[in-house]
This record gives sequence, structure tokens and C-alpha cells, in this order.
Amino acid sequence: MYDIGIIGGGTAGMTAAIYGQRAGKRTVIIEGTNFGGQIVSSTNVENYPGIASVSGSEFSMNLLDQAMKLGAETVAEQADSVQKEDGMFVIETSEKAYPCRSVILATGVTHRHLGIEKEEKLVGAGVSYCATCDGAFFRGRDVAVIGGGNTALQDAEFLSNYCRKVYLVHRRDEFRGEKSLAERLKEKENVEFVLSATVKEIIGETMVEGLILNNKKTGEDFKIEVSGVFVAIGQIPQNDKFKDLIKLDEDGFILASEDCLTSCPGVFAAGDCRTKEVRQLTTAAADGAVAGLAACKYLAGE
Ligand code: NAP
Repeated sequence: MYDIGIIGGGTAGMTAAIYGQRAGKRTVIIEGTNFGGQIVSSTNVENYPGIASVSGSEFSMNLLDQAMKLGAETVAEQADSVQKEDGMFVIETSEKAYPCRSVILATGVTHRHLGIEKEEKLVGAGVSYCATCDGAFFRGRDVAVIGGGNTALQDAEFLSNYCRKVYLVHRRDEFRGEKSLAERLKEKENVEFVLSATVKEIIGETMVEGLILNNKKTGEDFKIEVSGVFVAIGQIPQNDKFKDLIKLDEDGFILASEDCLTSCPGVFAAGDCRTKEVRQLTTAAADGAVAGLAACKYLAGE
């Protein structure tokens, strides 16, 4: 029997484990893909307080090492469901069942991908899903942001401070994101809107060299030369398998606020998987601490 069962071995989950272990709780982190989470694919992290520069993989491996040295157990299995039984919880994976007195869901999100050839191959070589993580590496260069929501608009604005030119490529001629943000971008000399256009192809074998776009109105293909492509076409939470246990919002994010409490007592949500405004490494770590301590409080019957 574990005191705290954590589903998800990203920054939020591992931070929760550190807080749980330091409070003397028996903690297990169950991770089905890769320990470290999203940040592993960031070549360099420069916005974590107190660490001027670190690779995403080094950051997450240090975090995992820290959690394990404190005694957190790790399980490399996909959690399929959480059952509530007599005030306890059972996390079921394809291999085993893990009984726990409390559960922290730290399942993260996955960035929606374009699903085109070379996209996966060139992640870290020009293709990025995080402008705030990777934008500074494109200082003085030309880049494209794909998407028309608030994330894409904000990414374009952020990148316009570093890059020589930012193409904002959106599949419709109207943005989904806030008008005021789009208006502000329009004023920027180094931002060009490429509307009603989809990405047909990424050019480059070892590094991104450009994009072949398709003008949806004329049907014509055209090329832009860029060394970075920031894909900001939405995020996909993976909480469906827990929807009978806790409430989700209409987009599938776990309904929980800054206290990380969910609709089910004893189940907590930490990091990008919950409803929140800012999905960053720092906020994932902060959630891990909050959820870890909240679980300890729950276990103490407070
Ligand atoms: P989003 O609002 O869902 O927008 C995704 C954008 O990507 C849409 O413009 C969509 O086009 C486009 N898209 C989706 N699939 C695509 C595909 N396969 N190919 C090309 N384009 C595709 O996602 P988001 O911008 O990540 O924002 C998520 C949520 O967080 C939103 O509620 C947003 O308001 C919020 N957010 C808020 C702030 C803030 O400061 N308040 C900042 C960031 C995000 P269509 O428009 O044609 O569907």
C-alpha cells in the first residue's frame, strides 16, 4: 500500500514525489512513456529560477535522481485506470494493480502535432512546440509560428523580440485567439501574417530550412525560408480514462484550481493536465509541491 500514487513522471509528478517522500510518505511514480515529461525535448531551459541554463534532459534526470534518492519508487507502466474502493484507490496498469491511500494525477498534455513528414525527425533541429523554451535560440533568424489561437499569437509576439522575421501561419483568415493580441501583432514590422495557409512540407534533412505552404484559397503551393517552426495548434490532455473518478472541463482538462484539489477527495491534479492559465516548467513544479503537500494533509485527515 502506497501513501501517494502519482500518475505521470514529468516535473509536476516528480516534484510531488519529492514533497511526499520528505514528509515521510511512501510514494510511487507511475510513468508510461518517459520519465521527465515534455521538458526532455527542450534543448536548453533558461527560464527556471536559479538555473541559468540546463538541457531539458539533464534537468529532468536530476529531478528523477532527487526523487529516487529520497526513496520514491518508480514504475515504468502505463496507468489505465484508477478505482476508488472503500476510501482507498487502486491504480491499474496493464501489468499490475497499485493500491494507494491518495492519488496525484500529473498526466501532462501532449502538444498537437501537424502530423506531416519530417516533423518528428526535426524536433530539436528547428521544430519546436514551446516558443518560451526554445525561442531565444532563434535570435536574429527567420521563423514560422503555426496556429491561430492565443498560444500561437503569444508565441509570435514573444518570438518577434528575438527573431528577424516571424511568419504567423494560420489555416483560416480569422484568428481564434484574442483580437487585441492580433491587432498588436499587426503593428509589428517583423511579423507577417500568412492566412488561409496550411503546412504541406517541412524542408531540410538535418535542420529546418523552410516550409512549403499551401494557399487554401488559390490552391497554390509556395515556399518560405525559415530555420524554426513553432507548432502551436493546441494541446491535448490525456485524462479521459479518469473521467468517471474526477470532473473534467469540456476540453478534457481536470477541473482543479491553484489548490490542486479535484472533485474527488483524495485525488489531486498537478501540472499541465489541470485547468490553468500558465503551463510552464515553473508552474508544473509549483503544482507538484502544492499537490504533494495537499495529499499529506489529506492523509493526516486534515
Ligand atoms: P486553441 O485555442 O485550441 O487554438 C489552436 C489553433 O490551432 C486554432 O487556431 C486552430 O485552427 C489551429 N489548429 C488546430 N489544429 C490544427 C492543424 N491540424 N493544423 C493547423 N492548425 C490547426 O489552442 P491554444 O492556442 O493552445 O490555446 C489553448 C487554450 O489556452 C485556449 O483556451 C486559449 O485561449 C488558452 N490560452 C490562453 C492564453 C491567455 O493568455 N489567456 C494564452 C495561451 C492559451 P482553427 O482556429 O481553424 O480551429
